[in-house]
Amino acid sequence: MTTTKRIDAPMMKPRRVALLAASCALAVPLLPLPEYLVNLADLAGIAALVALGLVVLTGVGGMTSFAQAVFVGFGAYTTAYLSTVQGWTPLATLLPALALTGAVAWLVGAVTVRLSGHFLALGTLAWAVAFFYLFGTVPMLGQHTGISGIPAVSIAGVSFADPRRFYLLVWAAVVGCATLTINLLDSRSGRALRALRGGGAAARAFGVNVGAAKLGLFVYAALLAGLAGWLLAHFQRSVSPSMFGINAGVEYLLMAVLGGAGQVFGALLGAGIVVVLREQLQVYLPQWLGQTGNFETVVFGALLLTVLLAAREGLWPRLAALWPAPPPRAVAQDTGLSRLALPERDTQLLRARGLCKRFGGLVAVNDVSFTLRAGEIMALIGPNGAGKSTTFNLLTGVLAMTGGQLQIGPETQGRTLDSITPQQAAGLRIARTFQHVKLVGAMSVLDNVALGAHLRLRPGPLVAMLRLDRRAEARILAEAARQIERVGLVEVMHQRADSLALGQLRLVEIARALALDPVLLLLDEPAAGLRFKEKVLLGQLLRQLSHEGVAVLIVEHDMDFVMNLVHRIVVLDFGRCIAEGEPTRIAKDPAVLAAYLGVAEESGP
Ligand code: ADP
Ligand code: MG
Repeated sequence: MTTTKRIDAPMMKPRRVALLAASCALAVPLLPLPEYLVNLADLAGIAALVALGLVVLTGVGGMTSFAQAVFVGFGAYTTAYLSTVQGWTPLATLLPALALTGAVAWLVGAVTVRLSGHFLALGTLAWAVAFFYLFGTVPMLGQHTGISGIPAVSIAGVSFADPRRFYLLVWAAVVGCATLTINLLDSRSGRALRALRGGGAAARAFGVNVGAAKLGLFVYAALLAGLAGWLLAHFQRSVSPSMFGINAGVEYLLMAVLGGAGQVFGALLGAGIVVVLREQLQVYLPQWLGQTGNFETVVFGALLLTVLLAAREGLWPRLAALWPAPPPRAVAQDTGLSRLALPERDTQLLRARGLCKRFGGLVAVNDVSFTLRAGEIMALIGPNGAGKSTTFNLLTGVLAMTGGQLQIGPETQGRTLDSITPQQAAGLRIARTFQHVKLVGAMSVLDNVALGAHLRLRPGPLVAMLRLDRRAEARILAEAARQIERVGLVEVMHQRADSLALGQLRLVEIARALALDPVLLLLDEPAAGLRFKEKVLLGQLLRQLSHEGVAVLIVEHDMDFVMNLVHRIVVLDFGRCIAEGEPTRIAKDPAVLAAYLGVAEESGP
């Protein structure tokens, strides 16, 4: 097998140990273990594949699914039907089983992943119920009795009927899929997937196709479940609807959550614990209660709630903490990414004409027009609620314009747009920061910034899974490191973003925006929370960018900072532009003074 080579790939130390342990576990069938233990290990491996998909879907992508058992069912029933009724050899049914599962997941996902949060979980619950009854009703699939007499897998004349041999098949699949998944998460696509949590506004702003990423993740998780189903059918040698019901869906979710949603090895751990626990509970619970029944389902439900309430991170992070912290990932001394040309100074970059935004009866932005030229630093100021952030959101496609037009690029060849999407804006090299910082807390500063370069080099997910993206990845990370250095955060580059102070997080957002190689940089209150020295550094950086030809549009309450920095100021009040001009003129403008009089100026976010 090629796993040894993959183990050598750079990854965190506990992971390396665990992957080694998983590989050693391949020796289990050689040990003189009782058959029921080998059976349990087989079942745990099959379950681990499903949990692996859920870990990525739920823990990484933030999408909770109760429907994974359904996809196990599609994999299992496809091979059951083809290998019994149609007489196909088991191996020949693998591709059709995966293809059908993937196709169903794509259809189900296309209408479901648009939902968010609890609605998505409820949506998957509905699918789980619907397909459970479908499996039990279709005559072709044996209705409630299911299909039995499924042949054992044999590959090149070697039969895997014996559980000890089957163990090798199952755990080779687990090690292979875990490796592919680790590789996927440690890549450009992995960063995009992590940024999906909490709505994906930041992912969108840097050009990630959020809808496609969510659907792709949903299908990937389903394919792992389909593979597990295929294995399960040939292990049990029979399938019936009860194997793929809601209770199974809850069990798989419990595995992912218990092990540590978001942790690849959490899936293996969770699957192991739940499978062993189920076995024990099925034996002892009826004895204690003096009745037969599926009492373990009740225990699992209670356990799921307990874990969600008391230990949301799951068990794996606690185990991993027993190892010394891994050394930070080395960033190659690379040249980074080549920059695209910046437009000549003073050419027009952006022209906003009559921008309008209504929220019901409230006109938040009312007929606002301005132009921005290459190399210009312009401030958008005004009292709280004046419409500054809304204007930013119109320029970057986060909100749809109620009226108005944007002309982006030089006056003569520029495009005039009545609407723009965040992805389009990123493609036009418009980068932004958010007033309320939007970073992935569990991801390193380096990875957060690297998300900014999403559109600059584009190794795809398949390439990443096979680890063929290392050259591109090194360049992306080198570029991210360069931008981190520019904002003065080298010391914290390898720390988790959620360990930083607010001022530093704002600088991380600026580094991420710079990683897009912008021609236009929009900063929403960048100096709020910054210390004096950091403000000075930020001012220098923005002047440097302006010198290079980048246009900067900045919303800021710190008037000293603004007055010393910007070339021009636009003042908004109640959504309207009330003044525009050089800082010295604006400071004396009667309309501006009136707007600010009696308005308590606040300096924080
Ligand atoms: P600023 O950034 O200048 O402080 P905003 O642009 O955030 O102001 O808000 C302008 C006005 O629009 C405020 O009255 C605010 O309450 C309202 N507003 C902003 N976003 C929304 C929204 N998504 N839905 C409804 N009203 C909003
Ligand atoms: Mg604001």
